[in-house]
Amino acid sequence: MFKHVQIPNWGEPVKVQGNQYSVPDKPIIPFIEGDGIGIDIWPASQMVFDAAVKKAYGGKRQVAWMEIYAGEKAQKLYNEWLPNETIEAIRQYTIAIKGPLTTPVGGGFRSLNVAIRQILNLYACIRPVKYYKGVPSPVRFPEKMNVVVFRENTEDVYAGIEYKKGTPEARKLIDYLIKELGANIALDSGIGIKPISETASKRLIRKGIDYLLKQNRRNITLMHKGNIMKFTEGAFKDWGYELAREEYGDHLVSEEELWSKYDGKVPTGKKVIMDRIADNMLQQILTRTDEYDIIATPNLNGDYISDACAAQVGGLGMAPGANIGDVMGVFEATHGTAPKYAGQDKVNPASLMLSGVLMFQYLGWNEVGSIIEAALEKSILQKRVTYDLARQMEGNVKPLKSSEFARSIIDNF
Ligand code: NAP
Repeated sequence: MFKHVQIPNWGEPVKVQGNQYSVPDKPIIPFIEGDGIGIDIWPASQMVFDAAVKKAYGGKRQVAWMEIYAGEKAQKLYNEWLPNETIEAIRQYTIAIKGPLTTPVGGGFRSLNVAIRQILNLYACIRPVKYYKGVPSPVRFPEKMNVVVFRENTEDVYAGIEYKKGTPEARKLIDYLIKELGANIALDSGIGIKPISETASKRLIRKGIDYLLKQNRRNITLMHKGNIMKFTEGAFKDWGYELAREEYGDHLVSEEELWSKYDGKVPTGKKVIMDRIADNMLQQILTRTDEYDIIATPNLNGDYISDACAAQVGGLGMAPGANIGDVMGVFEATHGTAPKYAGQDKVNPASLMLSGVLMFQYLGWNEVGSIIEAALEKSILQKRVTYDLARQMEGNVKPLKSSEFARSIIDNF
């Protein structure tokens, strides 16, 4: 059926019934190794996943990994960066995990990562950021960090509607905006369009509120730059409050009501919805870290806030993520291809491993996630870590290679 993808003959696909997953004991899970450091972090992570599944279930359960291709590997095999069969395989198998993919800056093709999210309508990028004991940090109380960022994944300036300075398209748009709408734009501008819709905003915020209620967390914050971008980011905020009122009135109070009606005390059983302007949010997450739980935000803000949060608890080497649609998920680290380290067996694979933890939790294999998280924490406490954590630790900590770090985690199972 596929040109280059080999389907393992001993596994079965994860099936979707209604909006529930039915997970066989030997699920076929597609993976993309990824460009740059993908070659280092994928094998290290896969080794840990397989060992953790074995530890949790003996031989009863096992993942049948199925390699699919995007980025440089796909270019060599198919002469395409993102072959159709890669997208088709993710559709058919409903779950996938991927390493990072290169995106050229200022030219060339658009982001493959963004394309995968948009084509498959994986509209929520979910990035939990929390402290693992022993992780070095530039802040005094890193243990206060425990947020889950819900980043809108399909629109905003990531929609890819952008025209280069001097092109007929840019000129046409500029002329239209000046002549028809009275805008004041320099003729030598590049033009980017920022669409933010009610539908996409509400479905993202709904996912965040559902998570807040299910996980019994305290609050959700709508992070936006609505003071400047009133009809895109400002509207995102307004739609969020509207959704909260219309669909979650029994469960949520706004911060404004909290003070006007309840003297600042959260009524029993209720959760709080609030909003923060993006620039303020970036400082609040440093100065009042533990006051925030769930952050729902448009695409670009989500990119910024998740890296800023990750910096407090070990950095990008420790930052996992999941791109989720209604019934599909692609799991990936927050970081990129870090090309200067590619192939050196050097970088921290924990970000991809923790993305795998999210994937196993999503499949209901919670035991696997718990084994990996506990062993990862032990390795960090033992200072058996890769360079990124070693350089932030006190004393002269000798860094491990990516593969050695993975083995130390398995030793700690
Ligand atoms: P990056 O690849 O995330 O790397 C930036 C820096 O973060 C690295 O130089 C390194 O810091 C640190 N870092 C990243 N991953 C690490 C890991 N696993 N362990 C330890 N440290 C890690 O960002 P970039 O250099 O801006 O982007 C490179 C390429 O990746 C671009 O083409 C970009 O478009 C792409 N990208 C892809 C994705 C994705 O696939 N989802 C996401 C973001 C970016 P130090 O130098 O301080 O050691």
